[in-house]
Amino acid sequence: MNATTERETSTVEYRLTAMDRCDSCGAQAYIAAEVNGSELLFCAHHGRKYEEKLRAVATSWHDETARLAEAV
Ligand SMILES: [Zn+2]
Repeated sequence: MNATTERETSTVEYRLTAMDRCDSCGAQAYIAAEVNGSELLFCAHHGRKYEEKLRAVATSWHDETARLAEAV
């Protein structure tokens, strides 16, 4: 018997909606970073742009950009 039970829970729980907007350009946000207790939202473009700097200071990093690839 070949019981291969894959239990990969690497899927991100999506919680950003169309109401969440990028702090830089106002596009729909797909990345949320928590910095100094406040949450910053970014679209995929700006999330990538600021990722390096943000990750250094952010206490949490939430990335839903995978949704973009799925949604097409
Ligand atoms: Zn943006």
